[in-house]
Amino acid sequence: MLDLEDIFGPGGPLHSALPDFKSRWQQLRMAQRVATALEHRETVVVEAGTGTGKTFAYLVPTLLCGSRVLISTGTRTLQDQLFSKDLPLVAAALGRPARIALLKGRTNYLCRYRLARIGPGGEQLSLDTAATAPDTGAAATATEAVDESTSLATMLARIQRWSLTTRQGDLAEVRGLSDSHQVWPQVTSTRENCLGNRCPEISRCHVALARREALDADIVIVNHHLLLADLALKEDGFGDILGSADAVILDEAHQIPDLATQFFGATVSSRRIENLLKEVHAEVASQLTHTPVDSGAGELITNVATAARGVELSQHQLAACLPTRTGRFPLAEMGSHVNAQVDDLARSLQFLQDKLTHLGDDSALAQFAERAGDLVLSLDRIADMDDLDGVRAVEITQRGGFSLSLMPFDISQRFLSLLQSRRCGWIFTSATLSLGEDFGHFTGRLGLHDSPTLKIESPFDYQRQSLLYLPEGLPEPASPKYVAAVIETALPLIDAARGGAFILFTSHRALSQGAALLRACWSKEKSPYRVFVQGEAPRERLLKEFREDGNGVLLGTTSFWEGVDVKGEALRLVIIEKLPFSSPDDPLVKARIDHLQATGGNAFRDYQLPEAALALKQGVGRLIRSEEDYGTVVICDPRMVGRGYGKVLLAALPAMSPTRDRDEALRFIRKHAPRNLTNADSSARAATAP
Ligand code: SF4
Repeated sequence: MLDLEDIFGPGGPLHSALPDFKSRWQQLRMAQRVATALEHRETVVVEAGTGTGKTFAYLVPTLLCGSRVLISTGTRTLQDQLFSKDLPLVAAALGRPARIALLKGRTNYLCRYRLARIGPGGEQLSLDTAATAPDTGAAATATEAVDESTSLATMLARIQRWSLTTRQGDLAEVRGLSDSHQVWPQVTSTRENCLGNRCPEISRCHVALARREALDADIVIVNHHLLLADLALKEDGFGDILGSADAVILDEAHQIPDLATQFFGATVSSRRIENLLKEVHAEVASQLTHTPVDSGAGELITNVATAARGVELSQHQLAACLPTRTGRFPLAEMGSHVNAQVDDLARSLQFLQDKLTHLGDDSALAQFAERAGDLVLSLDRIADMDDLDGVRAVEITQRGGFSLSLMPFDISQRFLSLLQSRRCGWIFTSATLSLGEDFGHFTGRLGLHDSPTLKIESPFDYQRQSLLYLPEGLPEPASPKYVAAVIETALPLIDAARGGAFILFTSHRALSQGAALLRACWSKEKSPYRVFVQGEAPRERLLKEFREDGNGVLLGTTSFWEGVDVKGEALRLVIIEKLPFSSPDDPLVKARIDHLQATGGNAFRDYQLPEAALALKQGVGRLIRSEEDYGTVVICDPRMVGRGYGKVLLAALPAMSPTRDRDEALRFIRKHAPRNLTNADSSARAATAP
């Protein structure tokens, strides 16, 4: 049998299958380490620099080892890519067919029971829509209402037609349907409203089918949300799949500490309570049509309706104590009356749960008891959490709803015990896990201090392919003139590069200001560059059009700092507005800082700086995506040079040559700008958003 050196070497099966395949010792090194970890069921942390080819480096040993492996990714897009492209390709190249399954969270699959309940003409859908329409604070006009209902009806009809032929029931297959569409929650199930074995559609249920296929597969591709929901919350039905795995590989593992913190916390939103009450009231009304109110059963049902109204009242009383403006606020600073109202809401939900339980298991209303119980548990945890153990916050949404949340400060012990309770290997990998040679920030948050780590440097020649420009003369970021100074600095650089630029901001406010300033400048000068601004179109569309344009300028905030892959000339300049320190105005950040200081830690050194360094490394990592890429990173923030911690941030970045010399930067940028963009081409472009 071929060994890993043969497989990854020149003339090997990967080379034969992929003409562009390049043999890299870094990829082989990672594959060897993953193979050992799979063999010995080890927990290991591997940072693979950009360009290592880490996907193939874990897929090859996974296919060769013959064990049952779960691969968890950060996004559904990456899940789909592994399932439909990478895994079949590597399996074919190696001649190692494997049973592969893709498993998503239940809300991705059509629920046949709920679809059937809506009715062929969408009768129930229109009722539900009225009940769940977003509260925008303004009455919709008649025209808006008609348009919305037409769009719902059209989409429902499309889903109904598709449901007749789909095998997987994955709603991603439905043309034009986004997961924010109002019809989505009505044709999918939640853990709480799924009837499970009592469901008349169970034999055709897509969630059950996906889980059965996952149980039979050698390799199962999941995502972090699904994996963590099971680890932290014991999501139903998935435990068997995780329990039978020999190893779990977590790609994009840098996301795990924050995601796990969310899953180990608790969240209760007013929307979740309202949805429960809406369904309870609908079921009560339905049952009372055939149950006399003065019968024993009717009395029990009426008690449920009374208890549900009690929950409504408690919820309104709590909402009345909360801030009216949108934003996130620390619960600890709101006074004891808010805590008392949270407790009151929990007790009224508990009362509802009791009344639902009295109905007996054969009543359709009894299915709501567990949901009410889950809300009680979460609210009790939020009300009882010691502020030394975690941060409790309330978020007021634009629609006027609220969301109470709890985030523990330290999940390390709990996370580690969950890993240790399963006798499988855990392989964490990402391009951004270490600072210099130190993995301590990542491993510390997950309790993995004792796990072996491996850092694999990127195969790219950053010295030759890139330049790091740290401009002089910008004001401090707190200055009101700061964003204007950034744009002023950016303009000649973008011109020298002839477009092909990202400008990455750290806040939406700075993004809007930057976009307005840039457009104001270019509208005067008839700029050749098309401007793409986050929020003006969906992210994937912006990126697609940016790639196709080849000379665009894209402005984005956090979601463009990571997970964006623009290979080749289309991206040749990355301008970073400000160092990505989390805002201490955010109550979650502030509480964590206060907690570290109160417990004798150094919040800046142990939390803010490493978080910023990892985020900066992600942002800078957008630039060079292949051996053929060239480009310049510009970090405008003067603190990069003016403060002692700038050295720590610099050490976290790839080995680019730094310069403060503007002429040198302009020379490098011009040298690598495309030559085929003529002024005629340029002036034909409009400097407008897509
Ligand atoms: S078992 Fe649950 S998810 Fe499946 S069809 Fe029935 S209600 Fe829907």
